Amino acid sequence: MCRVNHIFIAFGGNLGDVESSFRSARAAIDQLTNTSVKQSSLLYRTPPIGPAGQPDYFNAVISIASSLQPLQLLDALQHIEAQHHRKRIEHWGPRTLDLDIIAMDSMIINADRLIIPHTQMQFRQFVLQPLCDLDTNWQHPLLHQTSSQLLQTLLDTGETILPKGKVW
Ligand code: AMP
Repeated sequence: MCRVNHIFIAFGGNLGDVESSFRSARAAIDQLTNTSVKQSSLLYRTPPIGPAGQPDYFNAVISIASSLQPLQLLDALQHIEAQHHRKRIEHWGPRTLDLDIIAMDSMIINADRLIIPHTQMQFRQFVLQPLCDLDTNWQHPLLHQTSSQLLQTLLDTGETILPKGKVW
């Protein structure tokens, strides 16, 4: 019997009907072998970073329980991104659906294709705020801070709280 991990996945996108892409990607994740979606954060609307003139982004985080191996899960998420016609036109440019693995319990992975916890998570309010909707006590295994402490550290640098999101 394989070990079941509790995993956080961040969703982002700013092209097309993003809310509908998020819902269908969430349903596709729930259909993966030995995987079930447990909780969804609110859906936040956030200003774009990267090239100017892009539409606003939508962001959310879900928690899942899965016994897939980390790289199997990454492959599956990249397949779901491709099914949603993800376009990689330019780095940090507009995209229909971006799925990032934020954390898998307290696992630390440093492989070519996969770094866990996600290297940018502590700098991104649009990840930390939805993560805190789900679990304020998750502990970052390298930074030794909880999700709510990471969010507070970011807010202390002058970031403002995102407007309340919506259920999706
Ligand atoms: P992005 O353009 O932000 O979706 O980055 C995708 C690339 O990041 C892929 O080639 C992945 O192999 C790599 N990657 C490294 N760590 C992660 C992670 N924790 N979650 C998702 N992709 C990752």
